Parts: sequence; structure tokens; C-alpha cells
Amino acid sequence: MEPREDFKRVGDMALTPVTKIDIKELAEIYDELDVYLSVYLPTASRDDEAANRAFVDTRRRAIEDALPRDQKEGFKETMAVVDDLLFGRPISGERGRIVFASAPHSFLHVYRIGVEPPRAMVLDTSPFLLPLAKLRDDYMDYGVLLLDSKEARLFCVRSDVPEEMGHLSTDLMNKHKKGGWSQMRFNRLRKGAIKSFLSEVVEDVQDSCSRHKTRGIVIAGPGDAKLQLIEMLPAEMGKKVLGTVDLPIDASKRDLVEVGDEIALEDERARSMKRAEELRAEILKGGLAVLGIEATRDALSSGRVSVLVLLKDISIPGWICERCQVLEARKLPPETCPVCGGPTSPVDVVEELYELAERTGAEVEFVEEDACLASSEGVGALLRY
Ligand SMILES: [Zn+2]
Repeated sequence: MEPREDFKRVGDMALTPVTKIDIKELAEIYDELDVYLSVYLPTASRDDEAANRAFVDTRRRAIEDALPRDQKEGFKETMAVVDDLLFGRPISGERGRIVFASAPHSFLHVYRIGVEPPRAMVLDTSPFLLPLAKLRDDYMDYGVLLLDSKEARLFCVRSDVPEEMGHLSTDLMNKHKKGGWSQMRFNRLRKGAIKSFLSEVVEDVQDSCSRHKTRGIVIAGPGDAKLQLIEMLPAEMGKKVLGTVDLPIDASKRDLVEVGDEIALEDERARSMKRAEELRAEILKGGLAVLGIEATRDALSSGRVSVLVLLKDISIPGWICERCQVLEARKLPPETCPVCGGPTSPVDVVEELYELAERTGAEVEFVEEDACLASSEGVGALLRY
């Protein structure tokens, strides 16, 4: 499918959280010819630029050599469009850049991101989305609430960039200082004031969490206020707490992201291990699950997959028919498609399975390591029916 008119040019000079990139819409795009260029480059350090130039140069020559004569011109035009964009100076906070482009389709997406992608450059019939999908799996948005008994700051961390969503404070001492109360009465009042302050914070957090889709929230700060707050959370919110951590109330944003990432990544690992276990359990009892490329491909094609489960570092060569989308693993592409006679091309089967999952609304989970998955080429799926 060709990109929609209003989806042909995306990108600006600001950082884009990886969760904000419309990967579902990107997965809808494909052509019969290899006209979509995808480039992922790290841009965090000074040395990256020279390495990026050398990498892109090598890949450019390899791709050009491999293309049929009548497609070389289109590729050159696409390269001319992206040339400056690939090597332009990084903006503040930028650690990576993703460019999808096709001159024949007047298609150009440029994303500056706050996390580092591995280098990749691919020319294919559709945008190459696996690296982006893995980044989104690792860097799902999460909240950090930093609080003590009189101040609370709420952040949303998106691709390692914290945005402050709210700030509440109360002046406990001044409110109750006057009047010459006894120490006991003062302490009682102070406790009450802290409690009412914390319930205000709870309301704020609840409100914010209902508006943003996040992995969950990290509760940080010095002392006991954070534990007191957790006790006051409604059960539904309590489940969203990823962890607690001691931090000074004036902690820097960098500190917030560092401890937040550790807790969030730990949660991601636990979540994907749980998925892998679910898959294994279903397979063992002959339930709603499949393993292996062929069974997973068929289930995806018929829209039966609820969660596609993939080992993180696999790549399986195969071919696809660019017309009817027939997909076969571990074989060289035949001259023409045996089903419809359409043009064929070599592909990474994993990327194609991923795109199928996105198009059919299946969730995708990347698993670091799992023996059961590894024994079936790293591919499996939980089924809807
Ligand atoms: Zn075909």
C-alpha cells in the first residue's frame, strides 16, 4: 500500500519519543519494488559521524551493486534526498536518528531520538521496522513521582527524556507555626496536613496516569513519604507501581532517568519472561499457541494471533511474493511466485512476521532468551482462538 498523502512527510527538529512514531501506519506501507530506504544511526558521540559516513558509504555501494539496472536511478534519487539529513549535526539530547525515505513515492520521515539504535541501512519493499520495534519494547514510556512530605514532582520519561508533568508543594511549617500550640497538637496537625497533601498528590498521579499510556510508575524520594503514598493508592494504581527508590528531592533529571531505566528494564524483562512461560505452558497443554515459523505465519495470516513472541536477536532468511505476500523461510526466492506469478524478493522472515503482526493488531513481545523458543527458531505466538 502507498503511504497516505498526509503521512508522506513526517519529522521536525525536536526529539521524538520512539513510542510516538506511528509504527502501525508505517507497517501498512509496501511496494512491489525495493524503493524504501531505512537508515538507523547512533549520533550520541563525536566519533559517530565518521563511523556513520563510512558505514553508509559501504552500504550504499553494496545496495547499488545488488539492484537491477532500472532501479539504480530511483535509489540514487532517494540517497540524494537523505544525504544531508543523515549527517546533519545532532540536536540537544539526540542520541540516534531514524530516516525512512523513498524518492519515487515522495516519502520522507526523519526522527531524532533520545536513545541509541544499532547501525542499520536497508533498501526494501517496505520500511524496515524491527530495530524500531525493539527500541519501543525496551523504552516504553514510564512515570517517575519524586516526593517528600511537602513537595511532589511528576515526570513522564519518554525514550530517556523526562518531561515534568506536574509539581505540587505545600508549606506545612508556615501554615501551622503561629498560635503557640503544644508540640503534640502541632505534630497532629502536621500529620494531618501531610496526609491531605499526599491525597492531593494521589489524585494528580491518577489523573495523569489515566491520560498517558505508560509501563507504570516509579516512586522516588527521601524518607517515608513515598511508602505512605503507596499505602494510599487505590488498588488499580498500586498495580502500576514498578518500584521505589531513595533519591534526594532535588535529584537531577539525569539521576531520575538512570534509576528509572533500571527499574523499567527490569520490569520489561520480567514481563517478557512471563510471556515466554505462558507460551510454553499453552504449548505443553495443547492450548492456544503455536511454535515455529510456518505455524506462526499461518496464524498471523488468518488474524488469529494475540501476541507474537520473538527471540530478540534472531534473523531468518527467506523470500516473499511482493504481490500476494506468500512467505517462505530458509529458501532462495524463486524467479516468480508459484502461487500468483508475482515478483519475489529475499527478506528477513522475522521482519515480515513483525509487519504482519502490526497490520493485524497483534501485540509483539521480544524475549531476551528462552530455551523453548530457541528450539523452534525463536518464533511463536499466543492465539486468540
Ligand atoms: Zn504471489
